[in-house]
This record gives sequence, C-alpha cells and structure tokens, in this order.
Amino acid sequence: MTMLGFMRTDYETGLYSIAARLKSILTLTGVVVLTSALPQASELWKNNNQEQFRLLARKSLALVGVVQLLVMVGSIVFSGLIIKITSGSSFMEVKPAFRILLFSLVPIGLSNIAGGLVLIPAGREKRLLYSEIAGAVMSFIANLIFIPKYSIIAAASTTVASETLVCILCFWYIKKDLGINLIKETVYFIAEKTKDITEPFRIFLGNVLIGKKLPYYCPCCNKYLYSFKEGEYMRCPKFYNIDRYIGFDQKVVCPVCFSLPRHRIMVFWMKEHIELFKNKRILLFAPELSVCLWMSRNGISSTTADLYKSADLKLDIQDTKLDDASYDIIICNHVLEHVENYAKAMQELKRIISPEGFIIISFPVDLSIDNVYENNSITTPEDRLREFGQNDHLRVFGKNSAAILESFGFEVREICGSDCDSKIKPVIGPADYDFNKLWILTTTKRTFD
Ligand SMILES: [Zn+2]
Repeated sequence: MTMLGFMRTDYETGLYSIAARLKSILTLTGVVVLTSALPQASELWKNNNQEQFRLLARKSLALVGVVQLLVMVGSIVFSGLIIKITSGSSFMEVKPAFRILLFSLVPIGLSNIAGGLVLIPAGREKRLLYSEIAGAVMSFIANLIFIPKYSIIAAASTTVASETLVCILCFWYIKKDLGINLIKETVYFIAEKTKDITEPFRIFLGNVLIGKKLPYYCPCCNKYLYSFKEGEYMRCPKFYNIDRYIGFDQKVVCPVCFSLPRHRIMVFWMKEHIELFKNKRILLFAPELSVCLWMSRNGISSTTADLYKSADLKLDIQDTKLDDASYDIIICNHVLEHVENYAKAMQELKRIISPEGFIIISFPVDLSIDNVYENNSITTPEDRLREFGQNDHLRVFGKNSAAILESFGFEVREICGSDCDSKIKPVIGPADYDFNKLWILTTTKRTFD
C-alpha cells in the first residue's frame, strides 16, 4: 500500500485500502485458531509429544484451511454486496482488485498456523522470519515493476503471490527442519473427516435409493454399504501387535454397527438357522453391540454375562456357579484367549450346556503355529502384545484349534469365513492371524442343515 501511495494517486490508494481492510477482517480465523491453540502446541512440543503436536497442527490447518476457503468462495460470490454494505456503491471500482486479494485468504490462514503454531513452538522463529522476508522482497520487486502499469490490480496480485510464497516456504521449512510433511498429513486428515461426516448420508443413500446394488452388506444391522471402514488396528500399536495385520485388508468394520468379520460370520450362520434360537435359554458371554442388536431386532432374547463389563450376570467363565445344563445355547466369542485357564472354562461350558444344546465359540487363531501357545512367565502388556498379538491376551491358538475343542468331548463343526457370502466381507485379508472361523460345539452328534 505504501508503494501504491508513492507510485499512484491518492484515490487509487484509498480504493485499495478498502480492499486491504476487508481482507484483514476476513483472515481472522487463522489468528483466532492460532491464539487459542498456541499454548497447547508449545506445551506439547516442550514435552516432546510429537504425535499430539502433529495432530493439533493437522486439526488447526484443516479448520483454518476449510473455513478460509469457504470465506474466500463466499466473498468472491458476494464481493459486490460486501463492498456496497461496508463502503457504499460508489466504491465498486475496487471490486476486481478485492476479488483478486481474496485469493490470499487461504495462504495467509495456512501461514498463520504453519508459522505461528508449528515453527515458533518448535524454536524455528528464524525460519518464519526468512519466509516473511522472502515474501516482502518479492512483493517489493513485483510492485516496483507492475504498479505503474496495473495499479491496484498489481498490488492485489503481488500480495497474493507473496503470501503464497510465505506459505510455501513455511511448509518447506517444516518438512526440511522437522521432517513433517504437514500438507500431505492434513490432506489425508481432511479426507478422512469428510468420509466420516458424509457416512450417514452415504448409508442412507445406499439403503434407500441404491440398496442391493451396493457391493457390501452387513447382516448384523441389515444395511447395504458402499464399503466397510478401516479397523483401528494400525492406530493402536500399544494394544494390537500391528505386525500381524500388515498386508491384510483393514477395511472390515461396519460403519453402522461396528461389526467385525467374526460377528458377521456368526450372524450369517445364525440367520440361516434362526428357528433354532427361538424360545431358547441363551447365554451370551462378552456381549458385543452388533450381535446384541441383531438378536434384539429378531426377537431373540438372551442372558448376557461378563466378568468386567456391565451385563445381566457378572461371572467368571472358569467357575460360573450356574446349574448343570442350565442353557440351551451358549455364545462365547473371543473370551478363551483372555482367561487364566481355558481348559477349566471349556469344562465349565460343557457342564452348563444342556445335552441337546449347542455352543458357538470363536477365538483368534494364528495359522502359522500348530498348537496353542501360552507361557505363564509372560505377564506384562508389552510382552503379551508381542507374543500373543494383543496386550491383554494370555495365549494364542494354532492350527489344531478344532482338535483342542474336540478334546473336551465335543462334536465340532467348523464355520469358515470363506464359506460365507463375500458381500459381508467375512475375512481380514489372506490372514495368517485369523479371526475368521467359528465353531459349533455339541455334546452329541447333530446336523444343522
Ligand atoms: Zn452392521
């Protein structure tokens, strides 16, 4: 603006000052987000909490970027109205320059965050200064060349160009000094959030308008789906041994009821045999949402049991204190790998199931080992994570799981994910660490077809 003042008339300078003032107001989002997040960012950096620091940066950038983009588009569309309201219709001449200037809203907002919220807390103030100097130098030279001929259009254009340069340099320094590709991370972050936000609409569209044409189906919640969503495995390396999931298809969770392949396999089988479940005494260990929802929707009632979480009965599967033969059907998924003595649990299940009844059971199986692997000396979460695949698992079963179940005196029928309709996505990839089998146990020979 100063250069404009030297090189052009007062009228033009005055016009441009209107545009510049409006622009300053419209860039407030970046300043507000920066001011409110800065203390937290500094604290996170000081405590070397890189993960949270990056997350905060991503969130702030996404917020400022999206808001500024919307403000920019809205202001371009209503630029005439904005000028009219704030300055009067006699200043319409500034409209083209104002519109150009609006393209600086996004780079200014992003530089606020990249510079103020990342470079400064990370002790790289000089990098921010260099970026700003580069922008100022560029602006000076470009103005010198273009203002005499193009006046306020040139002033607006050089502002956009120099703000963009500052923004690019800030991100470049962040990548160079801190090794963080913040642009890429933020784009992924925005893409993921957009997917989450639009999910209910896509599910609605899928079921109401397109229905069965969709590639996937969740039998637990009876919804047709565009796709299953990514599981949390890779995001929780302290809970899951993520090595066991690398290379497998991670998109296995139902976005509506959170069912996993093992739930869908079971419900798929239950659906085909639904008559067996009517008016029966059913005991459901470690109840899970997707299964409970399906049962209640189909009028199948059960008694739920858990040792830790809330359930109808609080009991230890190794010693239930229940009467002999007190249930017709027992459902016991992913429990045996958590209990101290799984043999005791199996004997207990055999005692409480009625002679005509059956048990549906599943647990994680590692197909790369032959026999069940357990080791009493492994007690810490870290060691359990490494050895058994999850930080609260006490063992992992192997290829002979069906034989183990038989050894407790059961007839065993194996249901494999690969036997089910592929629409329900019943398997996690071509997995060695396999969640995708369940077994139906009976004490006498029995067919289910
Ligand atoms: Zn579902």
